[in-house]
Order: sequence, then structure tokens, then C-alpha cells
Amino acid sequence: MSTPRVLVLGGTQEARVLADALVAGGIDAILSLAGRTSAPAASAARARSGGFGGAEGLAAYLRAESIAACIDATHPFAARMSANTVAACTAAGVPRLAVLRPEWTPVDGDRWIFVDDAAKAARLLPAMGRRIFVAFADGLAPFAALDLDFLVRRAEPGPAEGLPGAEVLVQRGPFARDAERALFAARKIDAIVAKASGGDGARAKLDAARNLGLPVVLLRRPTPPPGPYAGGTNEALGWVRATLGLDPGAPSSI
Ligand code: NAP
Repeated sequence: MSTPRVLVLGGTQEARVLADALVAGGIDAILSLAGRTSAPAASAARARSGGFGGAEGLAAYLRAESIAACIDATHPFAARMSANTVAACTAAGVPRLAVLRPEWTPVDGDRWIFVDDAAKAARLLPAMGRRIFVAFADGLAPFAALDLDFLVRRAEPGPAEGLPGAEVLVQRGPFARDAERALFAARKIDAIVAKASGGDGARAKLDAARNLGLPVVLLRRPTPPPGPYAGGTNEALGWVRATLGLDPGAPSSI
């Protein structure tokens, strides 16, 4: 019997950890990245990079590569890729699992305001101060009419999309709370705008904001794709083993 092949749609730390764990469990895992990061973290899995050409392109890829199961472990804001994955897996008859990061929930001292999009965030910012830290670099046009000083962080060199007057800070995570706190203090930041991505990797800025008493405007996550879901790597591994009819007694955790 040939080794079953699993496609992991990635771009997140969870996807890489999962792909590595699948390889360690004797599964032929392919880790797919959008291809926008210049030096992605190394993985034991085979890597592929770049778009598939929509849902039809992905369905063709699933068939051509004889993919036995597909795991959507993309970023929570990568809604188009998730929708394409649903359509492609349905068309190609490939079982699909979505990895859902736990949502962030506020604790005492957090000053979070959830909004649906950047346009709604733009309405709140003028009342929050002058110096705004934005933790993402796309979809910023709604901020362009505001007379505020923006510091926009992105992982790769490039523009603050839609906000040409902003200062861009190129920094790749994971970030530590104390370093985030030092950054916000040194730059005299008054408020933060971030995507409510959830999970641990991007949380440090929220902890630093609480420490400094800063307000945080959080863009709500898009509606997740339909289930089944896994909350983490071990759950996803269990699903793969069950779906592929593999020996449940074999090592399946990391
Ligand atoms: P998207 O809008 O859902 O995807 C756009 C297109 O990129 C997809 O249709 C697909 O092209 C390609 N793509 C995305 N992920 C892919 C993958 N894993 N493998 C192969 N192709 C992939 O998502 P996005 O533009 O990547 O990101 C949307 C938001 O998610 C960003 O604004 C950012 O906040 C956040 N984000 C994404 C990533 C990431 O690695 N993708 C990482 C961090 C944050 P085709 O239709 O041609 O297949």
C-alpha cells in the first residue's frame, strides 16, 4: 500500500507543526504556502508555494497529486483560500478538516473594542490619540483620510497598503510581550489596531497594551469555513488517522 498523501494549507505556525507531525507519523505531507514570505520557517514536509488558480485549480491539484485528505490550517483571515478549499475538496471528493485557532478573550485590564472592518475602526481612532500602531499592512485605505500618525508593522518589506503616509516597520513574529511594550512606549503609541487572529503567536501585543493601559481596536475574524474542526495539532492528527483508516495505536502525537 502506498503512503497516504495529505495536503496541509499553511502560512501559519500551526500548519508547519502539523505538517512536521504528519511526516513524523509516516504520512506523506505536502505543506502549501501562498508564497509571499521570503524565507519561510523550515519544515520536514515537502513544500509547495503559490496560488493554485482558484477552487478549480486546487481541485485539479488534489486529483493530480492523489491527495487523500486536506487540512485547512491557513490564517483565520485567509477567507478566500478557505472558501476555495471547501469548494475544491467537495468537487474532488477529498475529506477536509479546518484547524480553528482559539479566539482571544479579554481579561481584567484589557481595553478592547471589536469592529467588523477597518472602516469601522477608522471612526473610533481620532478619539483615541495621535499615534496609532497597526499590526497588519493590508486594507488600510479607510485610515487614509485621518490626520493621525500611523506606524504599520508588516513581516516583509513593502507598503502600508492604502496608507502611503504611514511609517512602515518590518518585523516578523513571534513577538515577546516585553519587546512589544518597549516598542509601544518608545514610539509613544496611543492606540493599537489589530486583527483578532487568536492563538498564542500574535498575542504579545495585546498583553503589552494591557500593561500600558492602551486601547486596542480588534477587527473581527471572518466567519470560519464549515467543519469538521480541530483546535490543535493532536486533534488534527487523530482526524487524519481516523479518516485514512490508519492504525490508531501508532504514534500520533508530538
Ligand atoms: P486569501 O485572501 O484567502 O487568499 C488569496 C489567494 O492566495 C488564494 O485564493 C490563493 O490563490 C492564495 N493562497 C492563500 N493561501 C495559500 C496557501 N496556503 N497555499 C497556496 N495558495 C494560497 O488569503 P491571503 O491573501 O493569503 O491572506 C489574507 C489575510 O490573511 C491577510 O491579509 C493576512 O492578514 C492574513 N495572513 C495570511 C497569511 C498567509 O500565509 N496566507 C499569513 C499571515 C496572515 P489561488 O486562488 O490562486 O489558489
